[in-house]
Amino acid sequence: MSDPLFRDDAYLKTATARVIAVGEHGIELDRTIFYAQGGGQVGDTGMLLRANGERIEVANTRKGEALDSVVHVPTPSAPRPEVGETLTLEIDWARRYSLMRLHTALHVMSCVVVAPVTGGNIAPDRARLDFDIDMSLLDAEKIAREMNDIIARGAETETVWITDEELDARPELVKTMSVQPPRGSGRVRLLRIPGIDLQPCGGTHVKNIAEIGGVRVLKIRSEGKRNKRVEIALL
Ligand SMILES: [Zn+2]
Repeated sequence: MSDPLFRDDAYLKTATARVIAVGEHGIELDRTIFYAQGGGQVGDTGMLLRANGERIEVANTRKGEALDSVVHVPTPSAPRPEVGETLTLEIDWARRYSLMRLHTALHVMSCVVVAPVTGGNIAPDRARLDFDIDMSLLDAEKIAREMNDIIARGAETETVWITDEELDARPELVKTMSVQPPRGSGRVRLLRIPGIDLQPCGGTHVKNIAEIGGVRVLKIRSEGKRNKRVEIALL
């Protein structure tokens, strides 16, 4: 189990943590600021610093087998730490902040394009949602304009926790058909942007949607009968 510090504060750029396991897949820590690949968002990259000055480059971060376990995947040539050792963690902040802005922008998009979401992905330079919608209803200019109007007005984002039972009673909260919210811990994390969006999400978001700055639509294309893809980038 790794205490996911980013869940309460997505803006942590550095922290210290103790090594609890070193395996063939990577390094597990008692707490972490590295987001593990999931929910369509790529894993964080960065550096783990040893007390002796050695640097362990983290090429990716993945979920482990246990709930809330996070595996920091080092580059092949990086040194391996010892269990019990204390490390200083540094994430690649510029990359993560782009991911946070693009991820939050997808929440705004789901307010502008009202249709079931069938897929999604967030990379450092672009992000997309797939919708079950008729192509004729997707207009790139209109989507960008409406998203940028909402972004320019700004709104604070909020994290809300509800129980599994409360979520079961409100199935309309789940917009994404392909990704059901994680269950098993008894509670589910929601992201709320007042008046704009409310849905289960375990990802990293900016504090105010104004931080997104603005977006442009890169392309709209059909990826199948029920997958019409809208891809965006930051301005
Ligand atoms: Zn989210």
